[in-house]
Amino acid sequence: MKRMIVLSGPPGSGKGTQAELLCQRTGFAHFSTGDQFRFEIAQQTEIGKKVNEYVKQGTLVPDPIVLAVTKNFINHNQDKGVVFDGFPRTMVQAQGLDEVLNDNHKEVDCAIFIELALAEIIRRLTDRRVCRNCGAIYNLSFKHPKQEGICDACNGELYQRVDDQEPTIRKRHQVYEQQTQELISYYRSHNKLWTIPGEIGKDLVHERIMKIVYEA
Ligand code: AMP
Repeated sequence: MKRMIVLSGPPGSGKGTQAELLCQRTGFAHFSTGDQFRFEIAQQTEIGKKVNEYVKQGTLVPDPIVLAVTKNFINHNQDKGVVFDGFPRTMVQAQGLDEVLNDNHKEVDCAIFIELALAEIIRRLTDRRVCRNCGAIYNLSFKHPKQEGICDACNGELYQRVDDQEPTIRKRHQVYEQQTQELISYYRSHNKLWTIPGEIGKDLVHERIMKIVYEA
């Protein structure tokens, strides 16, 4: 079984949902840099203050900050498998991750990239709503809450992330595309790359991921 899993995909490809499903099934720890940064911003921590502008504008947080947060997470989850969600996003981060794992006698076991066309991404993201209280994710076209604007799980208020509006989505996608080609080549050259077409839908994507993770 693979234990150190990089899960990547453009914003809106469902990588967050897939990471959660995978963690539920395996008991692995979920490390989402995006979630982590939103948490730091909400708590107004030192890191939160540093990353606020980048996250709001959909540009990348500088590598040293991302790597410091990652190192901290890995050190606190020594005995667990980890799903890295939305990280690494740059070559510096990929190499930094290899170094941190290496120091812990571990390595990335596989890098799974979910692929999705831009038109579909825009459609999915502009319909996405998130619970302000528990972080649950809804979609107005295929996973709507029972009551408009209210979370089914905790009655929290649903909101649209500021970076889920179309101009920012385009920007985030462009940033993603620019950075990803190198990462794909990197993991391919180490025989660790797997790609899955996001169009096949949530359940089939999940099945494929499970197969990859459980395969020797
Ligand atoms: P996400 O939730 O993965 O879409 O990330 C939301 C935002 O957090 C991104 O647009 C970036 O500003 C920031 N972010 C998340 N992960 C990273 C990362 N690995 N490197 C740099 N910035 C990141």
